[in-house]
Amino acid sequence: MQPFDLSGRVAVVTGGNQGIGFGIAQALARAGAAIVVAGRHAERNVEAVSKLRAQGAQAVAVETDVADEAACRALAAKTVEQLGRLDVLVNNAGTANRKQPQDYTIADWQHVIDVNLTGAFLCAQAAYPQMVRAGGGKIINIGSMLSIFGASFAAPYAASKGGIVQMTKALACAWAKDNIQANAILPGWIDTELTRSARLEVPGLNERVLSRTPAGRWGIPDDLGGLALFLASPASGFVTGAAIPVDGGYSAMV
Ligand code: NDP
Repeated sequence: MQPFDLSGRVAVVTGGNQGIGFGIAQALARAGAAIVVAGRHAERNVEAVSKLRAQGAQAVAVETDVADEAACRALAAKTVEQLGRLDVLVNNAGTANRKQPQDYTIADWQHVIDVNLTGAFLCAQAAYPQMVRAGGGKIINIGSMLSIFGASFAAPYAASKGGIVQMTKALACAWAKDNIQANAILPGWIDTELTRSARLEVPGLNERVLSRTPAGRWGIPDDLGGLALFLASPASGFVTGAAIPVDGGYSAMV
């Protein structure tokens, strides 16, 4: 088998209908994987699937809210029903809610944890038996610079993204025996809908990102594709439990 070939593999990308998730979906599709785009908005899912198909990929949409346990289980079941197997799970669906810690309601807190952390866990749990059946699998969890650093405006987000890294290690330890590798990608500041609103709401953010990132630019969703492909492919067969930044050097600089 070629080290970066995903022909015959099926990859589920939560939040795959736009932004980083769509960038990763395109990279995996280019390597030959069939893609399941899983997001809440049916019309966005369909649009992403059409774009992937136009690029020659096999792709299907499954409307999914990862905050809903039954929906996570249905996602794995529908993937196997429609495409026959499940080899790669990219836990990318994510949300943020910027407030000072004293201002969060418990509902604000819980929503971010439910989507970013519990949703990733539930999808991994649902995918596990299918990966065992396939003889192995790949779980790629999307963390953040807030898996490492703090920020005054992101208590639940930072908690969820710190948790993602530790959960990744736990899955890696538990499922290595099943030939499942679990790793996390920690993106730096990437230009997407999520950060476009932050750029508007947080004064000086754009300038801070540019001066604080050694590469001197915002990332784009395509920047995540190379590492995602590596972690989804046979080339990373002995890489598990790692959390790898894709950040233009952001986490390397004080
Ligand atoms: P976007 O807001 O552009 O995309 C978020 C995606 O998640 C959408 O496809 C959305 O689809 C989906 N999503 C949101 N909530 C749910 C839900 N409950 N169930 C299923 N899908 C959901 O964000 P990004 O592309 O920027 O972010 C993707 C991931 O990368 C997130 O985990 C984010 O935390 C992380 N990240 C982003 C960074 C950045 O700079 N952009 C930096 C570090 C990490 P729909 O609305 O249809 O459900």
